[in-house]
Amino acid sequence: MSQSASSRVAIVTGAARGIGEAIALKLAADGLAVAVVDLDEGACANTVTAIHDAGGTAVAIGADVSDPAQVTAAVERVVAELGPPTVLVNNAGVLRDNLLFKMSEDDWDIVMNVHLKGSFLFSRAVQKHMVDAGYGRIVSLSSTSALGNRGQANYAAAKAGLQGFVKTLAIELGKFGITANAVAPGFIVTDMTRATAARMGVEFDDFEKAMIGQIPVARAGRPEDVANTVSFLVSEGAGFVSGQVIYVAGGPRD
Ligand code: NAP
Repeated sequence: MSQSASSRVAIVTGAARGIGEAIALKLAADGLAVAVVDLDEGACANTVTAIHDAGGTAVAIGADVSDPAQVTAAVERVVAELGPPTVLVNNAGVLRDNLLFKMSEDDWDIVMNVHLKGSFLFSRAVQKHMVDAGYGRIVSLSSTSALGNRGQANYAAAKAGLQGFVKTLAIELGKFGITANAVAPGFIVTDMTRATAARMGVEFDDFEKAMIGQIPVARAGRPEDVANTVSFLVSEGAGFVSGQVIYVAGGPRD
C-alpha cells in the first residue's frame, strides 16, 4: 500500500543549506514529512525550524552520506521518528576542483565518496522501504558539469556517474512503483558557487554577471528553481517519468 501524500516521508541529504534546504522546504510545503540530513546535525536547525514555523514536519539528522554505518543509522532514525521513507533526494555535495595535473587522490576520493557512494548507500538503504510500500521516488542531483567542465574532472565524473546510476535504478526498481531520476542544475547561487568564484579569485558579482551572459533566460538560477523541479519528480503524478536527466539550467543542454 502506498502512503497518502500527506503521510509520505522524504529524506533530503545536504539539506542544511543551499539547494538541499530549498528542496526540504518545498517538499515540506507539499505536505511531506522531511528528514533533514547533513554532516552536522546542529547545522540542520535552521531548515527544521523554518519547516516547523510553516506548520510542517521535519527532523534533523546528522550523518556523513559516504559512511555506510552512519547511513544505516540515519535511515533507522527516520523510520523510528517519521515512518518509512518513500522519497529520497540525494543532494549532499562537495567540490574539490583542480586541473588534472594538480588533482590529488584525496580530491578525487572525497568527491566520488560524497556524490556517488553517498547516493548509492542512501538509495540502497531506503529501497527496502519503498519496495514494501510499492511506491518510491529517488532523485539525485547531477550537474551541467557532467557534460565536462575545466577543473572538475572528479566532479564531472561523479555527476555523469549519477546519471548512469539513476537510469539503472529506474530499470531495476520500476516494477515496484519506484522511479529514479536526476536533476542537473546549471549555475545556481549558493555557497558552493560563491566558493567557486573565490577559488577563481573573482568577485562573486562579476562571476555571476559572466555566468548570466551565457544563460538563455538571462538570470542566475535559484535554489527554488531546482526545488520546484524535484517537487514535480517526487510527486505521485510523475510516476511515468523515470530514468531521466532534467537540466535546470535556464536553457537547453545535450
Ligand atoms: P552547498 O551550499 O555547498 O551545500 C551542500 C551541503 O551538503 C552542505 O550543507 C554540506 O555540508 C553537505 N554535505 C557535504 N558533504 C556531506 C556529507 N558527506 N554528508 C552529508 N552532507 C554533506 O551546495 P549546493 O550548491 O546547495 O549544492 C547541492 C547539490 O547540487 C550538490 O550535489 C551540488 O553538486 C549540486 N549542484 C549545485 C550547483 C550550483 O550551482 N550550486 C549546480 C549543479 C549541481 P557542510 O556545509 O558541512 O559541508
